[in-house]
Amino acid sequence: MTKRVAVIGAGPSGLAQLRAFQSAAQKGAEIPEIVCFEKQSNWGGLWNYTWRTGVDENGEPVHGSMYRYLWSNGPKEGLEFADYSFEEHFGKQIASYPPRAVLFDYIEGRVLKANVRDWIRFSTVVRWVEYDADKGDFEVTVHDMKSDTVTRERFDNVIVASGHFSSPNVPEYPGFDRFNGRIVHAHDFRDAREFEGKDVLLMGSSYSAEDIGSQCWKYGANSITTCYRSAPMGFDWPDNWEEKGGFERVEGKTAYFKDGTTKDIDAIILCTGYRHYFPFLPDDLRLKTANRLATADLYKGVAYVHNPKLFYLGMQDQWFTFNMFDAQAWWVRDAIMGRIEIPADKQVLMADVAEREAREEASDDTKYAIKYQADYIKELVAETDYPSFNVDGACEAFFEWKKHKSENIMGFRNNSYTSVITGTEAPVHHTPWKDALDDSLEVYLQN
Ligand SMILES: Cc1cc2nc3c(=O)[nH]c(=O)nc-3n(C[C@H](O)[C@H](O)[C@H](O)COP(=O)(O)OP(=O)(O)OC[C@H]3O[C@@H](n4cnc5c(N)ncnc54)[C@H](O)[C@@H]3O)c2cc1C
Repeated sequence: MTKRVAVIGAGPSGLAQLRAFQSAAQKGAEIPEIVCFEKQSNWGGLWNYTWRTGVDENGEPVHGSMYRYLWSNGPKEGLEFADYSFEEHFGKQIASYPPRAVLFDYIEGRVLKANVRDWIRFSTVVRWVEYDADKGDFEVTVHDMKSDTVTRERFDNVIVASGHFSSPNVPEYPGFDRFNGRIVHAHDFRDAREFEGKDVLLMGSSYSAEDIGSQCWKYGANSITTCYRSAPMGFDWPDNWEEKGGFERVEGKTAYFKDGTTKDIDAIILCTGYRHYFPFLPDDLRLKTANRLATADLYKGVAYVHNPKLFYLGMQDQWFTFNMFDAQAWWVRDAIMGRIEIPADKQVLMADVAEREAREEASDDTKYAIKYQADYIKELVAETDYPSFNVDGACEAFFEWKKHKSENIMGFRNNSYTSVITGTEAPVHHTPWKDALDDSLEVYLQN
């Protein structure tokens, strides 16, 4: 009987999985029946922009954490699909830091070409997954929002590709309940123009704080204050941007910091991160991990050590994204199709995880971390027929990106890099990032 495989989520990871199976079918292999469940009405995951916050049109928690005017925070040369270049999609080479709509178009282009949309059941939320030890398969309970029906189906394998930048960490600080302004988590931030003319405090020192602060600065905030717990971001910020140490409390509209300084603010944006959150999984199947490069309990970073018929995609902290999801998806496909054998001995699987953790912990240097994830991609790609590509070259693009950020944090997106897939250099974008207020696909792609 044909195997049945459930994929949860049609974001970049889930779509990579569909493309992986479709590519095997294209080469003549007999593939399992694939059913992808997606709670949104369209694909693209976080890249499928929504203006909504709170709940979606079905009363479900909104998945989206992206905002208008978001541009790629790393060079596209670090994430390009090895089997579908930017040049193939756009018919020309494009600049290196595409806005969200442009990247969505690129992601969509590959799966439209692969013709896998029919494999996806949209507006369908996975409610529960249970493993049946007697039958050796999974029972998956789903809620189809269009027909408002809940049904159960059986699958031989389940692949969780539901993302981990959607369920926010929301801290509480003294005075929040009486603050005379807006408090919003990055997950619900949508449009920087809301903060035009305002004094904005961002809590956190990671990508969200850096990028949302930059958005607010670009679209006319009066001042930006970022505050960190462990270390400052340390960039050479514009004059109206300052970094402060620990936040203590807010009284009225005044924020107090541990160093004794204060700042009057109109809004607080909590860039305090996300949790791996799987409300549809019982304890025995649920991944519990920190956001790190060597995830807990995943053999080869994808197969759940406590039940290797269950796989997770994209659960690592991410330097690499789309090309790493591809490497994982091709590997998972081959494990499911019996081309790759997962060791039966659980100790072997756990030892693999321990080795990855130890190797990650050996250094906290950024270059080391980028190379670590690059090595992981190389390892998986070498075990499958995913087109091999110059992963070290992609690392170089990341190293350049880091350098460009430290040189000019508000100008790094004006640089261009060379594609490791086609070997061509990206053109310099027609407008510097800080002046490019209209970032629609049409305007971005103008020569
Ligand atoms: C603000 C922000 C900016 C980012 N910027 C960049 C960037 O510039 N470049 C970059 O490469 N990466 C960026 N990322 C990283 C991002 O994680 C990846 O690009 C990518 O979206 C991850 O893909 P994914 O498929 O693993 O997860 P997601 O994109 O989160 O997709 C998961 C999918 O699963 C679905 N789903 C969840 N639960 C269920 C359920 N119970 N039932 C059915 N479906 C479900 C969701 O609706 C969603 O479609 C950014 C992330 C954030 C939050």
